[in-house]
This record gives sequence, C-alpha cells and structure tokens, in this order.
Amino acid sequence: YAAKGQGRNNYQIYDVSPEQEQQNAALKRSLRHAEGNGELRVFYQPQVNADSEDIVGMEALVRWEHPELGAIGPGFFIPLAEETGLIVSIGEWVLRTACQQARVWEDRHGLRLRLGVNLSVVQLTQPDLVGVVERVLQETGLDPTLLELEVTESISIKAVPHLMENLHGLHRLGCRIAIDDFGTGAASLDYLRKLPADRIKIDQSFVRNIGVDPDDEAIVRATIDMAHRLNREVVAEGVEIEQHLQFLRQNGCDELQGYLFCRPLPQASFDRLLAERESLLAGVAGQSAA
Ligand code: C2E
Ligand code: MG
Ligand code: MG
Ligand code: MG
Repeated sequence: YAAKGQGRNNYQIYDVSPEQEQQNAALKRSLRHAEGNGELRVFYQPQVNADSEDIVGMEALVRWEHPELGAIGPGFFIPLAEETGLIVSIGEWVLRTACQQARVWEDRHGLRLRLGVNLSVVQLTQPDLVGVVERVLQETGLDPTLLELEVTESISIKAVPHLMENLHGLHRLGCRIAIDDFGTGAASLDYLRKLPADRIKIDQSFVRNIGVDPDDEAIVRATIDMAHRLNREVVAEGVEIEQHLQFLRQNGCDELQGYLFCRPLPQASFDRLLAERESLLAGVAGQSAA
C-alpha cells in the first residue's frame, strides 16, 4: 500500500493487482455493515488438558458470512478490518459475544471453561482497551480470571504505543495473557522476557513438523522447557494427528488445541458438545455412586 503514491506499476511488487485492490476496497465497504447486519459469527474451538484430554478452555474465532461471497476467513478479512480501523468495534463485538456465551455455558453446563480471545495489534494501541474489557466483564458477569487475551507474537513491542500499559492493565483486572503464534516472530525470546504473559501458544508451523523435522521437534521441546522454567504454561496449536499428541504429552506440554480433538464449531454445535460431555460425566459419577 506504500506503493500507491508511486504509480501503478509498483503495485506488482506488493503482489496486489489493481483488480484485487478494487475488490479489497469493496470488501472494506461491506465490512463496515457486517456487524450491524448480523453477518459476523463467533466459532469456538476446544482446548484440552494434554494428559486427561478433558476440555478446559476454548478459543473464540470470528467468521464472516458475506451475503454474496459466502464464508470469508479471518486470515483474509482481519487485515482489512485493521486497515480500516473497523477491528476496534469488531474486536469488542467478538469479546462481548464470547464472554456472554461463556457465561451461558457456565450456567447451563456447570463448566468454568477458560475463554481465549484474540486481540489485534490495533486494539492493543487503544488507550481505553483496559476500560473496554473491564466494562464487558462487568456487563457479562464473566469471571476475569477465565478470560485469556491472545496477543500475536508478530508485533514489535516498541512499535506499539500503550502495549505494555494495556497488558499490565489487563493483568490487574485479573485476566490472563497468552502469546499467540510463538516462535514465528523475530523477537520470541525478547517477548518472553518482557511481556507479562501467563502462557505461550506454540505455533502450528512447528507442531506440523513433529515426526517430520527433528529440528522443529527440538524447538518444540526447548520451547516447552524454557516456558516452564519461566513459569509460563504452554498450549500447542494445530495438533492434528496422534503422533503430535504423543510427542507433546511426553514433553510436558500443558494443553492442546487442534483438529485431532475438534475443529472450531458454531455456538450451537459447541453447546451440543458440552452437553454430551456433561451427560458422559454424569454417567460416570452415577456409576461410581452406585
Ligand atoms: P490463531 O489465533 O492462531 O488461531 C488458530 C487458527 O488455527 C484458527 O484459524 C483455527 O481454525 C486454526 N486451527 C485450529 N486447529 C487447527 C489444526 O489442527 N490444523 C490447522 N491447519 N489449523 C488449525 P482461523 O479461525 O482461520 O483464524 C486465523 C487467524 O485469524 C487466527 O489465528 C487469528 O490470528 C485471527 N483471528 C481469528 N479470530 C479473530 C478475532 O476475533 N480477532 C482477531 N484480532 N483476530 C482473529
Ligand atoms: Mg489465537
Ligand atoms: Mg495462533
Ligand atoms: Mg497460528
């Protein structure tokens, strides 16, 4: 986008054709009404304890159901939302929707699941972020200690004004902080040292190579060890096959998230999943009581 002022020919080096640029502009316009038109959805993906495989938490993942184009993934529209600043209101909507839902599930199924919500770098520059989160927690009644805010590792600590104040402020509310996509940015170790994080999420690009690339296996092992020595918990993302699970379990990873257990589910399906678990647990309790 920096190339705009330098003439058309420079578009190519940024890999955005004029047609794509036009389509993005159209998408940005319709994104402005997506929330109001009820086109946004929150999906939920379980996080399980690595040993018991019990569901202990979930990550909220936004989806956009475009009236003409169908489903558009967050990997595509979140950057557009960031460029337009719409991410601030979309992010708050996701946070409120997910906190409300977590509260409903706590009442309905008696489960106190941790809720992970992704924060965009743009939200992290907002001076009123802590106030917004505090208000949402008050309005929804969710226990702040159940809320975990995920901050992606690709951002630079120095280049984000208010980042440290915001993270410390969120901690003061009682919320937890997780570093998302750990290992992919240029400053992983600096991040681990400076950010007030409770957990790190090992990026799926490393998990995918378990059983394939011994170097990536070594990185996963060393990351878990280092995080634990620094009193951080570890979640692995993108756990897809049994071999990933065994490796991560053997190496002491705390929690797991991935298609092996469950894909991100719409609210109603996640609710059914929790209901099944509940009746399963009730069955076990009934048997042991008899
Ligand atoms: P993320 O926060 O790292 O989320 C994990 C992504 O990995 C999700 O993609 C999830 O569907 C996918 N995933 C989970 N398990 C597996 C697996 O076993 N294999 C593979 N291949 N993928 C798996 P999704 O939902 O498309 O989201 C992509 C990214 O978009 C997220 O990455 C996050 O950075 C961003 N995002 C999603 N929702 C929000 C949101 O509400 N706010 C912001 N700011 N960003 C969001
Ligand atoms: Mg995440
Ligand atoms: Mg991630
Ligand atoms: Mg990732």
